[in-house]
Amino acid sequence: MRYGIDLGGTKIEIAALDRNGAVRLRRRVPTPPGYPDLIEAIAALVHGAERETGKRGTIGVGIPGSLSPATGLVRNANSQELNGHPLDKDLEAALGQKVRVTNDANCLAMSEAADGAGSGHRTVFAVILGTGVGGGIVSSGRILDGPNGTGGEWGHTPLPWMMPAEFPGPRCWCGRHGCLETYLSGPGLAADCDGPGARDAGRLPGRAAAGDAQAAAALARHTDRLARALGMIANILDPDVVVLGGGLSNMDHLYRDVPPIMARHVFGDVARTPIVRARHGDSSGVFGAARLWDAG
Ligand SMILES: [Zn+2]
Repeated sequence: MRYGIDLGGTKIEIAALDRNGAVRLRRRVPTPPGYPDLIEAIAALVHGAERETGKRGTIGVGIPGSLSPATGLVRNANSQELNGHPLDKDLEAALGQKVRVTNDANCLAMSEAADGAGSGHRTVFAVILGTGVGGGIVSSGRILDGPNGTGGEWGHTPLPWMMPAEFPGPRCWCGRHGCLETYLSGPGLAADCDGPGARDAGRLPGRAAAGDAQAAAALARHTDRLARALGMIANILDPDVVVLGGGLSNMDHLYRDVPPIMARHVFGDVARTPIVRARHGDSSGVFGAARLWDAG
């Protein structure tokens, strides 16, 4: 059995995948507020799942952040209670077995590469466009992480081919200006349309369709920026497919409008990278976590 855990700000979910990739169990609980309770909640989920399936198995965990290769502690998590803790070691102590932890965009990439929208492609670049923006790379079934543990960390690189009116870009929580996350996330798009403090981007396509020019213009800027950002990825990694996940991946116009704009930023005479929607939707995190031991 392969157990995957998706640790989010509001819920913790566990899924069990069997040898054939079939889902044998899914359970979720609310995320408790403190770190010790969080460890306890995850351990209880695993023990409960093992009792229900009657099987032990590998354990992978996806988090909205990453483990520092230098300190072994969680960093950059937007669930603040995780930062500064050795989550993998603490879970191993609680569970008595090895646990792998990686960021949620890597889990999305693993899941979609294995049996989702990236299936059959060698190199998959997966993007989360949600409250935050992240990226993960899986090539030949393996996560491409590096010595810094930052492989695919696309959200905190600057918007490429910045126009004078865009420079230097909004200040990001990470301390820099003009990070892709400040433009491409749901809150970033909402603020670009309706000003500081606006956070709901979900209604913009409907507003644009109803003739709201302000919403239409904000969506056009967002599409153009996403296309530039993916053009940059094609020029560095040249993935065989780009998979979009997260709440904004439900915006249909992206799949139609991004590729032709992206083509203008690809340095070559072809630009044929398919851009597709994640097949497993929100479940990719938990399925990908369950697959963290697949590559051995
Ligand atoms: Zn940033």
